Amino acid sequence: MVRKILLPIDLNIADGDRGTLDAALHMLEEGGTLHVVTVMPDYGFPLISGQLDRAHEAGMIEAVQVALAKWVADNVPGGVEARTQVLTGTIYDQIIQAADRIGADVIVIGAHRPGLSDYLIGSNAARVVRHAKQSVHVVRRPHRRGGH
Ligand code: ADP
Repeated sequence: MVRKILLPIDLNIADGDRGTLDAALHMLEEGGTLHVVTVMPDYGFPLISGQLDRAHEAGMIEAVQVALAKWVADNVPGGVEARTQVLTGTIYDQIIQAADRIGADVIVIGAHRPGLSDYLIGSNAARVVRHAKQSVHVVRRPHRRGGH
């Protein structure tokens, strides 16, 4: 059982990282906090962020904040303390920094997108496992029939 869990969510996944959430809820102790974050990637290209004017970027962040709050409202059971934050930048790097900032006990992360069964672990999840100071719980999605 852990007190503070960092749960990075990829809002582009159709089922919204549901299995990852279930694993986190299983580990969270009573009264603990779930920090749900999503990263708006700049793909490591300052050129991309440089092209966005400030107002446009603020509007995009706001839209993602709304989507993340909806995801939490739809999926996290009432009574569980959940905080949300939208981050911008390089996905794995932002996840690692957020874990340090909030003093997470553990990071619970999905292994990879559904359907990408050639890889047992996606590139962001792999980098978080390699570089985070905290323990990382990697949640494998069920394999589809005919998959590896
Ligand atoms: P894939 O390349 O198959 O998508 P990733 O390593 O990128 O694999 O994704 C695995 C996990 O990393 C996701 O289940 C999620 O927990 C986390 N993740 C991926 N993208 C984001 C993102 N934009 N914001 C927050 N977490 C993310």
